[in-house]
Parts: sequence; C-alpha cells; structure tokens
Amino acid sequence: MSTPLDLSYILNHLGEDRDKYFQAVSPPVIQSSNFYFKSVNALRHDIADELSNRIYTRGNNPTTEILRKKLAALEQAEDALVFASGIAAVAAAVLAFVKQGAHIVSVKSVYSWTTHLFVDYLPRFGVETTFVDGKDLQAIEDAIRPETTILYLESPTTMLFELQDLDACAQIAKRHGLVSMIDNSCCSPIYQRPISHGIDLSIHSATKFINGHSDVVMGTICGSKRHIHHIFNTEFMNIGGIVSPHDAALVIRGLRTLPLRVKQSFDSALQIVEFFKHHPKVLQVNYAYHPDHPQYVIANKQMDGQPGLFSVLFKADSIQQMEAFIHRLKRFLIAVSWGGHESLVMPVCAFHGMPGGQDSPLPWNLVRFYIGLEEPEVLIEDLDQAMSVLPD
Ligand SMILES: *Cc1c(COP(=O)(O)O)cnc(C)c1O
Repeated sequence: MSTPLDLSYILNHLGEDRDKYFQAVSPPVIQSSNFYFKSVNALRHDIADELSNRIYTRGNNPTTEILRKKLAALEQAEDALVFASGIAAVAAAVLAFVKQGAHIVSVKSVYSWTTHLFVDYLPRFGVETTFVDGKDLQAIEDAIRPETTILYLESPTTMLFELQDLDACAQIAKRHGLVSMIDNSCCSPIYQRPISHGIDLSIHSATKFINGHSDVVMGTICGSKRHIHHIFNTEFMNIGGIVSPHDAALVIRGLRTLPLRVKQSFDSALQIVEFFKHHPKVLQVNYAYHPDHPQYVIANKQMDGQPGLFSVLFKADSIQQMEAFIHRLKRFLIAVSWGGHESLVMPVCAFHGMPGGQDSPLPWNLVRFYIGLEEPEVLIEDLDQAMSVLPD
C-alpha cells in the first residue's frame, strides 16, 4: 500500500486558481487555441519552454493544466500529460522510448490495440516485441536483450485479470536500464499507484474510470518531470493527439466523484463475484481481489481494491445458449469499453464467427462484466433470471 492521498484537496482545490477566474467555483473552459504576448521579448522568453508556458493549445492550455495537475497528484507523479485517447497515450509513451532496432518486453494479453501497436505497427520501424507471462518474473528477465528499452505492463489485464508484481518488475527494469510503464486503467489511481512501487510511467485510458460518464475519450501518462518533458518534446508535440479544453473540463468534473464511483463499483463487484462463485452454472470467475484468487497475495500487496471489472466462464453447450443468456439481461448493455455509470456486458462469443475476422483466442463461454453504479441487488436479480436459460 502506498501513502494515502489527500483526495479532498486534490479533487476540489488543486490547480484551481479561483481568484484569477472571477472566484468561480467551477473552472472556466478556456476555449482558445492561441495566447498572445505583450512584447517580442515575452514571446522569446516563453517559447523556450513550451511545456511550462502558455503559447498554443497543442502544447498547453489553462483548463487542461488543471486536469494534468490533478492526475499527476492522484498518481503521486511529478507531472502528467493528457491525450486524445487512451491508445494515443499508450502509443506516445512507447514511441518516445524506442528507436530503429529497439526491443520491447511486454506482458501477454494486454489491451487489443496495444497488442496491434506491438505486433503490426512497430515492426514497420524495426522495433520488435517479445510477449511474456507476466506471472513469471524469470521469463521477464530472460526475455531482456541488450537492445531492450521498455518493460510494458498491464496489471490487472482487462480480460483475464492477471497481475504482475509491480515492485519486482520495477526492480528488473531498473537493473537493466529499461523504462517501465504500465496500463493502470483497471484499478484507477484510487486503488493502485504504480509509481509508488517504482514503475516509471503510469498510463490510463481516462475514457474509463477517470472520466466515468461514458461521454469523453481521453488518455493520460503520469511520470517524472524528466520523462514527461521528453514525451512532450517528442510524441506529444509531433503527433499532436491532444484533448480539447472542453473535454478537459468534462473530465475535471468526472474526477470530482472518482473515489465515490470506484468504491460503489468495487462494493457491488464483491457481492456479484460472490454470487457467481456460488452459482452452479459458473465454471470460473476471473477477479484478482478475492482471497480465492491464486495471485491474491500480490493483489493485496499492491492494490487497495479492484472495481467492478471481471470475467466469468459459464457452463454452456453452445454459442446460441450464451447468446440467449446475454439477450435476457435487462440491466446490462452489450458494449465494449467500461468505467461509466452503467453496467455492461462483453460476451467473447461476439468475437467468434465474425464476418471475415479471426476468432478470439479466448473461449466463447467467457463474458466480461462491468459493474456500474446500479444497486447490486438489482443486478444480481437480473443475472439470476437470465442464467435460467443456461444448462444445469
Ligand atoms: C479502453 C482501453 C484502452 C484504450 O483506451 P481508449 O481511451 O479507448 O483509447 C487502453 N487500455 C485499456 C486497458 C483499456 O480498457
């Protein structure tokens, strides 16, 4: 466990210079692409450091700055950048620390488009990735080559919910001079703060818990001033996947309730996981923050909780039965993504028999659930009635 956060300060006050903004309680949206200078010398001075000064909104914007300060503080990082999507943040973090001939060690079954980045995109530039079982520290160490520059983690992973030991991984990375980075979307900074375990960069799809209202797509990278400065001067300014000030204001608003939302999702998840674990039609529940889970010791060491994202393997004879079960659910929307107010279900059987597509390597009787802010009793009742169509 890391040092506690002063959440009420971070979420309600940090970065909000209210005296400068008409004493408005809620920060104004500075919807301006550009900022002017009172003299040539002022421009000359400020442009030397685009990250710290307000020159142009591709680099910096006052509304976005408030959000960056809050995100950095939540992750106990020195600084943060925000991007147009979670995958823009992942891509910027990775691209900033590779060059032609570099090698990456990544854990298996990371987010789908992160996998595409490693497998399909980076080889175009001569960058290779080795995927390893993140539960096996020796396998991580053995995969490192002289040209390796990045250790890429995602803990828990978001389909099978496997963990990596963050302290141990950070030590391996330091010993070999690698930049360690983690996709921390699943736990949110409320339940896991990787930088306090020695990981260099903590990345989020802010689309998920951080915004939490299913109305903004955004990403963030949090890390040391040195690393953030490097990313700013390379991928951030060159590729330009920035957020609009209006979206930054929406995410500032989303953040105000982040601790309440993840707690509600976590409390409900614990009840729903118990329901599934005792249900005769369930073969397996993949949720790391439960004493039955083989990695619970690690979960307990580095996480303070796990909100309501998990997967369940059901007893079923056919994809048709799985579809019938999913279609009977009244309180869960069939959808990708997660982290909003509403409960969702993502059945792996949708990725079997896709027109022209390749079947998912995951079994068709696996379903990922996201537990939103509804009353857990209502969700359990709904799940129970829908499972009546599955065989005994
Ligand atoms: C959704 C997601 C992403 C990508 O984020 P976007 O905001 O959709 O670009 C990355 N990692 C994980 C674990 C995700 O769930």
